[in-house]
Amino acid sequence: MLILVTGGTGFIGSHTCVELLKAGHGVIILDNLYNSKKDTAARIEALGGGKLVFYEGDIRDRALLDSVFARHAIDAVIHFAGLKAVGESCAKPLEYYGVNIGGTVTLCEAMRDAGCKAMVFSSSATVYGSENFVPFREDMPTGKATNPYGSTKIIIEQLLRDLLASDPDWQICLLRYFNPVGAHPSGQLGEDPNGIPNNLMPIISEVALGRRDCLQVFGGDYDTPDGTGVRDYIHVVDLAQGHIRALENIVGAPGCAIYNLGTGKGLSVLELVRAFTEATGVEIPCKIVGRRPGDIAYCYADVSKAKRELDWEARLSAADMCADVWRWLLRQ
Ligand code: NAD
Ligand code: UDP
Repeated sequence: MLILVTGGTGFIGSHTCVELLKAGHGVIILDNLYNSKKDTAARIEALGGGKLVFYEGDIRDRALLDSVFARHAIDAVIHFAGLKAVGESCAKPLEYYGVNIGGTVTLCEAMRDAGCKAMVFSSSATVYGSENFVPFREDMPTGKATNPYGSTKIIIEQLLRDLLASDPDWQICLLRYFNPVGAHPSGQLGEDPNGIPNNLMPIISEVALGRRDCLQVFGGDYDTPDGTGVRDYIHVVDLAQGHIRALENIVGAPGCAIYNLGTGKGLSVLELVRAFTEATGVEIPCKIVGRRPGDIAYCYADVSKAKRELDWEARLSAADMCADVWRWLLRQ
């Protein structure tokens, strides 16, 4: 199949493009390089063992999208492009609604007019909100977002369901990622956030590289075994492979399928720090501070649906995630 990958030079997109090439699919990337670099495309080609086509441009640019669809017989879109920093979304809601929702509307319009109606969308465990109980299952009602970023994911999921209701030919897959971490085992691809990171693994990385004195652990008094927050960390290569399975499953099968992509196992902040030290030998000084507003104690997936319907499950361990991040950091 020939796949248009929006946001394909980003963290998850780049790993997914490698897996697409390895599986023999054609890849066209559309990315405005807001949070990634153009030379990533060459590294994807080298790791995936194939050529791709790269367009530098914005998903809100309808004329560009039309020209891409006119030039290539695209079978499906994997839609990663968007803004993703929770804190920044509170300061810049218009940018988040504009890029994430406005961009998705423009992309869907271009797809509809080109007759390409298969989309895999990057959603998030954040849509479960704080009202549901772990493990989160796909048939639970979505919760209430605590920030504009989360709102955009809930709204886009609804938008895509409404689109399907209006035209039953659409083939939609909503992938709800848990906590993607790790890097390509070659050390050639990884997470390279612009600005100040908020997520745990990029902050552990900064401490490991000596750029921060210590990790501030947000809350030591949760009702969890060691008092720190529990999340479902998933290796980005496992996550990328989940996209291939999802794509191959939904194309030609109209409807809206929803899958959690996680490991199904929760790890506390301190357990992840310990895994990092065991994998790398690098000590991460920690200081317990107050809870971060909006955080919940537990977030992990029920992954049985993806296993049953996609024949997919995460295989890589926390040790793999940490060792691969460290290899990527040392090559920077
Ligand atoms: P990323 O920032 O590394 O990748 C996003 C890519 O989209 C970047 O290359 C960026 O340059 C591009 N982009 C941004 N705005 C664009 C626009 N208007 N037009 C074209 N390209 C644009 O992020 P990521 O971690 O790879 O996340 C990919 C998707 O997965 C996002 O939709 C994100 O919300 C979602 N997601 C990520 C996580 C996570 O923890 N990383 C968790 C859940 C969901
Ligand atoms: N966390 C932390 N210190 C940090 C960043 C995160 O203790 O500097 C904790 C956070 O409270 C949560 C876990 O690490 O329990 C994962 O946070 P992240 O922001 O990576 O993911 P999310 O909370 O969005 O699942």
